[in-house]
Amino acid sequence: GNKNINAKLVLLGDVGAGKSSLVLRFVKGQFIEFQESTIGAAFFSQTLAVNDATVKFEIWDTAGQERYHSLAPMYYRGAAAAIIVYDITNQASFERAKKWVQELQAQGNPNMVMALAGNKADLLDAKKVEAEASTLVLLLEAQAYAQEHGLFFMETSAKTAANVNEVFYEIAKRLPRV
Ligand code: GDP
Ligand code: MG
Repeated sequence: GNKNINAKLVLLGDVGAGKSSLVLRFVKGQFIEFQESTIGAAFFSQTLAVNDATVKFEIWDTAGQERYHSLAPMYYRGAAAAIIVYDITNQASFERAKKWVQELQAQGNPNMVMALAGNKADLLDAKKVEAEASTLVLLLEAQAYAQEHGLFFMETSAKTAANVNEVFYEIAKRLPRV
């Protein structure tokens, strides 16, 4: 029969990487060019049907600012899944993403399903050739990093909706069936 799964999911990553925008796209199908910074964290829920199950995601969209770092464990503790988001045009946001992966692997649920989202993929075409080269290098680095650390990697765009549902869908498929 069809299973109902409740899954706590947390989004982590640098401020400005697009966490809130990904959630807004997934939950409401919208995008806001001047998305306001998240204060503390925001909660959303959204249901997704996969082959054998209906997954109700309980989503915690965290702020990302360093001053809220100490709150993060409240959101990732007990989480079944995490999406670690970085901005593909911003090397520093990738470095921050790696720190989150380390922290989750040290302190999080050992069975947590983790996705690395290289967000703002739409900016790749819009940028100049020389800027693109470094972005492509960073993408390769992110792919290799994800593979090495047992995450799956996807390039996303909250703006165009590319791969946004797919990230959640891939997570839903990987969640343990109980
Ligand atoms: P957060 O701090 O990680 O929650 O990031 P936000 O969702 O607030 O997004 C920060 C800024 O990046 C906002 O101005 C968004 O409109 C913009 N943004 C978010 N996702 C994308 C995307 O996929 N493409 C582009 N071009 N801009 C994006
Ligand atoms: Mg936010």
